[in-house]
Amino acid sequence: MFIGHYAPALVLHRARPSVPLWVLFVAAQGVDVIWGVFVLTGVEHARMVPGFTSSNSLDLYDMPYSHGLLATVVWSVGLALLWRAFRPSQRRAGEALVVGLAVASHFVLDLVVHVPDLPVVGTDGPKWGFGLWRHREVALLVECTLFVIGALVWKRERENLTPRSAIVLGAMTAFLVASYYLPALPTPAAMAVSGLGTYAACALAAWWMTVPSAQRGLVHFV
Ligand SMILES: [Zn+2]
Repeated sequence: MFIGHYAPALVLHRARPSVPLWVLFVAAQGVDVIWGVFVLTGVEHARMVPGFTSSNSLDLYDMPYSHGLLATVVWSVGLALLWRAFRPSQRRAGEALVVGLAVASHFVLDLVVHVPDLPVVGTDGPKWGFGLWRHREVALLVECTLFVIGALVWKRERENLTPRSAIVLGAMTAFLVASYYLPALPTPAAMAVSGLGTYAACALAAWWMTVPSAQRGLVHFV
């Protein structure tokens, strides 16, 4: 799953607006950011197999440290504690919980679409995945519905109803649909680089659509 991962981030931001939306975007996609770094550094491995599923060509046969169930629990707790360490004491517990849930939500959503390639613990042992990616249109419909619901929940907060948020969420929905039909990149490394770039762009877009104009500093061109 790709853009659909931002649905829990949007809902969690509605529940706890004191955590910046861009932080929750990074948290919800944190496991994939780690995957990108691990693929580029050779810690984890993948290969391109044309037609591997009808949705994409990525055979994710080795990713125990980014996408494993135990690994996700460790990342969730670790990143929640990291956020907690930098926040004022009266906000710490609630915000840390929200950040941890955003990180953990990644595994739950990946579980729905991935073929059984999500390790439970370590490199050996069972792998999970319900395999919705084998049915491209259904997977697209589920991911799109999820993202739209997340966006609608977030936009029910009046101050989130801005032209900027309409532009960003509309563009993300269009990109979600396009991502199911774009030709595959040639290598997992190229997938990792383009993924990391996209996650950074989405986090930047989340910041742009939520930060009050007075704090936007140099970005006055829109
Ligand atoms: Zn993932």
